Amino acid sequence: MKRVADESERTELLLHICCAPDATHGVSAFGKRFDVIGFFYNPNIHPREEFRKRLLAALDLQEKRPFPMIIGNDGAETWEDAVRGLEGEPERGRRCEACVRMRLRETARKASELGVPAFATILTVSPKKDAALVNHVGREEGELAGVRYVEADLKKNDGFLNSVRASRELGIYRQRYCGCRHSFRA
Ligand code: SF4
Repeated sequence: MKRVADESERTELLLHICCAPDATHGVSAFGKRFDVIGFFYNPNIHPREEFRKRLLAALDLQEKRPFPMIIGNDGAETWEDAVRGLEGEPERGRRCEACVRMRLRETARKASELGVPAFATILTVSPKKDAALVNHVGREEGELAGVRYVEADLKKNDGFLNSVRASRELGIYRQRYCGCRHSFRA
C-alpha cells in the first residue's frame, strides 16, 4: 500500500533540482526536516551544451556537499509537447506553468515509483519564480500521484542571497538565463 507522509514525520523527500546554485540553499533548507534525495530533471534546458554544464554543476555540488541524487531521463519530447502553442508567452506566463508542471509531474511520479512519501522543488529559490504558482502546481501533481507535496518559498529569509554567496564560495557554475530556448532569446 502506498505510504503518504505525515506532516510531522521525518521522512525521505524527493527534491526536484533545477540547478546547482539554487541547490546550494535548497538542499540544506529541506535537509533540516527531511532526508533529501535530489532529482535532476530538466528537459527544458537548451542548448545541449548548456544542459551538460548545468548537470556537471549539480554533480560538482554533490561532490563538494554530498547528498544522494538521481538523474532523470531525457524527456525532451515531453517538454516540447507540454509547451507547444505557448512559445510566445512571456516568462512567468502559461509556458512556464506548463514547464514547471511537467517537471513536478515527473518528480511526483518518480517519488511514487521509489516509494518516497514526499516531494518538493527548489525552483522557488529564484526571485523570478512565483512561489504561489509553483506550489499550486506541486499540490495538484502531488494529489494526482498520491504523494505529499511540501510547499516552500525558498527565496524568503535571504534564501536567494545565500544561494548566490554559497555558489560563489564553492565555485559553482551559475547560468545566465532560465533554461529553455525562449528564455535564451530573451
Ligand atoms: S522560461 Fe524557464 S520556466 Fe519558463 S518555459 Fe522556459 S525554462 Fe521553463
